[in-house]
Amino acid sequence: LPDGGPVVEVQSLSVHFGGVKAVDDVSFTVQRGELFGILGPNGSGKSTLLAALTRFVDPVKGRIVFYGEDCTGIAQYALGRRGIARTFQTVRLLEDLRVVENVLLGNDRTGRGERSQPSARQKATRWHDALAALARVGLQGTELHYPSELSYGQQRRVEIARAIVGTPDVLLLDEPVAGMNREERIEIAALLRSLKDDGLTLILVEHDVEMMVSICDRLLAMNFGQEIAHGAPADVLAHPAVREAYLGR
Ligand code: ADP
Ligand code: MG
Repeated sequence: LPDGGPVVEVQSLSVHFGGVKAVDDVSFTVQRGELFGILGPNGSGKSTLLAALTRFVDPVKGRIVFYGEDCTGIAQYALGRRGIARTFQTVRLLEDLRVVENVLLGNDRTGRGERSQPSARQKATRWHDALAALARVGLQGTELHYPSELSYGQQRRVEIARAIVGTPDVLLLDEPVAGMNREERIEIAALLRSLKDDGLTLILVEHDVEMMVSICDRLLAMNFGQEIAHGAPADVLAHPAVREAYLGR
């Protein structure tokens, strides 16, 4: 992958659902190794923005550039090969599969694995990678359990393990602490910071202002699909439009 230049460039991106401008002319760039936050109240267009970045919805306008290459119209599976992975706002684990098997699925999703039948050695490597990913998110010992046997906070961490098992360069997370208690939130915040310290570039979507200001390097604040503030967390927090969006609810 080329050095220098932003990892992600979003230029004048718009996504419409019928008459709803879910994302309206949004632009931002993310540098390598940054923890970039997209902040906004419910319904402000955060998930739609992530969906457009990961090819779940088509923008009506604008460009998405990864590593200097226009990826606005590429196939979804091709994102994994470019080192881009994501998690979802709601838990999406397969209940009939054990925890480690759920994580193994993430390896297939990257498209970096072999297309043909894996050899015994490749299988062993994948198994090892899945166990390592689970250990990385603090879930050693849960490998052979089923998702329903884990707490909600643990299930959400399995999803992060599944996203990082393919060793992505860019990880997009949609509200990874939604529904968690304060203690679990602090743990996830620490985990995200440590993933950043490992060199991962992170794009974090969240409506919890306190968490975002404490862990993000830079923030984009949205409301009604549009940017209302953009920059250093302290500046974004101090912006009148951000205060209004949050206090006005
Ligand atoms: P957030 O993630 O910030 O809560 P969303 O991106 O989910 O916001 O939603 C932004 C707007 O787009 C909302 O008005 C929502 O109702 C609308 N929206 C989101 N997804 C769809 C969809 N699939 N079809 C129609 N409208 C949608
Ligand atoms: Mg959302």
